[in-house]
Amino acid sequence: MLIVGAGPTGSTLGIELGRRGVSCRVVDRLAAPVATSRSFTLHARTLELFEMAGIAGRFLEHGLRSVSMDYHFKGASEPARLDFSKLHSRYPFTLIINQNVTEQVLRDQLSTLGTSVEWGTELKSLCQGPDGQLSALLVHQPSGREEIVRPKWLVGCDGVQSTVRAQLDIPYEGDEYTGMQMRMMDVPLQGFALEDDRIHYFISKERLLLVTKLPGTNHRVLISDMEGTPATQTARSAFQYVLDEHFHGSVSLGEPEWATVFRIWKRVTPRYRQSKVFMVGDAAHCHSPAGGQGMNACIQDAFNLGWKLALVSAGEAGESLLDTYEQERRPIAQQVIEGTHALHSIIMAHGRSVEERIALSRDPGFTQQAISKISGVGYHYREALMGAPGFPRLAGLTAGDRAPDARLGPNLRLHDLLQHELYTLLVLTSNTGGTADRLVTDVTDRFGTRLRVTVLAPAHGNAARSTGAITVEGDELRRLYGAADGDVICLIRPDGYLAMRNRFTGLQPLLATLTEHLSEAS
Ligand SMILES: Cc1cc2nc3c(=O)[nH]c(=O)nc-3n(C[C@H](O)[C@H](O)[C@H](O)COP(=O)(O)OP(=O)(O)OC[C@H]3O[C@@H](n4cnc5c(N)ncnc54)[C@H](O)[C@@H]3O)c2cc1C
Repeated sequence: MLIVGAGPTGSTLGIELGRRGVSCRVVDRLAAPVATSRSFTLHARTLELFEMAGIAGRFLEHGLRSVSMDYHFKGASEPARLDFSKLHSRYPFTLIINQNVTEQVLRDQLSTLGTSVEWGTELKSLCQGPDGQLSALLVHQPSGREEIVRPKWLVGCDGVQSTVRAQLDIPYEGDEYTGMQMRMMDVPLQGFALEDDRIHYFISKERLLLVTKLPGTNHRVLISDMEGTPATQTARSAFQYVLDEHFHGSVSLGEPEWATVFRIWKRVTPRYRQSKVFMVGDAAHCHSPAGGQGMNACIQDAFNLGWKLALVSAGEAGESLLDTYEQERRPIAQQVIEGTHALHSIIMAHGRSVEERIALSRDPGFTQQAISKISGVGYHYREALMGAPGFPRLAGLTAGDRAPDARLGPNLRLHDLLQHELYTLLVLTSNTGGTADRLVTDVTDRFGTRLRVTVLAPAHGNAARSTGAITVEGDELRRLYGAADGDVICLIRPDGYLAMRNRFTGLQPLLATLTEHLSEAS
């Protein structure tokens, strides 16, 4: 297995493989990791996925919790607010963390799992023989040594300018956001009086100014305005000019740590897989930075593909499981492109009147929709996942949905039960006596190496006496999982999305789903 690119996508994929015992090489053409940051946001769903991999706490140690995105429209008395604090997640905030720190945490975990990034190693070319065998040319720097490798699988996590995508001659469809310019600076600010735990967007007809506190001494200052606006450069004076326009001299810039000018696109590849090669992260899609979702979507791609590749390469699932990566993640990329474009039209539609943009931000449903998409908890794979083949779906929570978290007791939540590498079978039962025990035995006998079974039962009733059943306090679990008026079984995939939810009337729906997912390995 060869992963090309050791950015957040490649490192996450390496972790997802490594923790399932699948070894891989991760190569990167850079001589060493970058010390500067592009992304500064980790959203709730990404943190939930990191929690499943056992590493969420390490990000929390290094980040600041930001509870809202505040849109300060010029002339408006109050900001329009995207408030994440009520999000139904253990992480009701955006974690502000520098991308180089995120990448370092990921690489540390990768190395704990036995894989070190091979720096100075560039993929130059890639071809596939008539027998389907891949052949890749790597060049090691500074020696210039060439190496031909023949991986069984190759994953392009090599960013917007992907060599893998170019070698496969796959187009990157879409276009650039033109007529505007983007620049940013990480810099200490004096006199900035607004809260450190919010991301502040100052929006005028001509310009967006974003200011937020970063961990450490710096703020991120990002400016977007119309192309050709004077002061397009990254010079401190050019940034100070924009700050003065908003704060009339009360906020001043210190010594910048770094500054950059960048371009933005909205693009997606028509396919994510070609035979034994995949494209993941920025190599497959990119979009407006509105809402700070780019890296998060990339990491979520890697979580989607990692467990599937691990199962298939271990011979525990058929190759068709890998087709679901594109079926599930490409529509998400398109939704991210659309969602960020809608936000972009509010915060970066330079030249459009502020009143029109305020009206857009007040559209019914805008706030909830934006919070659910930016946080990532609102994305689902309902259209791609059919549930139990041959069995009707239950209304409500269904195959493809994110398994919502629920309180089970004073020190236990449902998401705690998902912190392992396997599928999770939840049996929510109140009064089945030995039936739950028989189910556990049957399923464990047949699928035990790929599945962990948990029986969850209310404090009253026979099921609580089933072997190993967890007694659940309160009714949040039964309410969220639709088990208030009958027993339910839920199969949750290793990435925390539901594979099926059915009434607990027999084993057939479950066996049909497991067979569909896991039993086609040749
Ligand atoms: C200014 C800016 C601000 C951003 N802010 C945010 C934000 O706030 N929130 C957010 O979620 N996202 C943000 N993003 C987006 C985010 O940075 C990217 O989505 C993310 O870095 C993509 O990760 P990746 O691993 O797919 O690609 P990359 O991070 O680009 O990593 C690709 C890696 O592949 C390596 N590589 C490339 N070609 C080869 C080759 N031929 N051989 C070997 N190695 C190769 C590169 O050296 C690189 O290390 C921002 C982007 C920019 C530009």
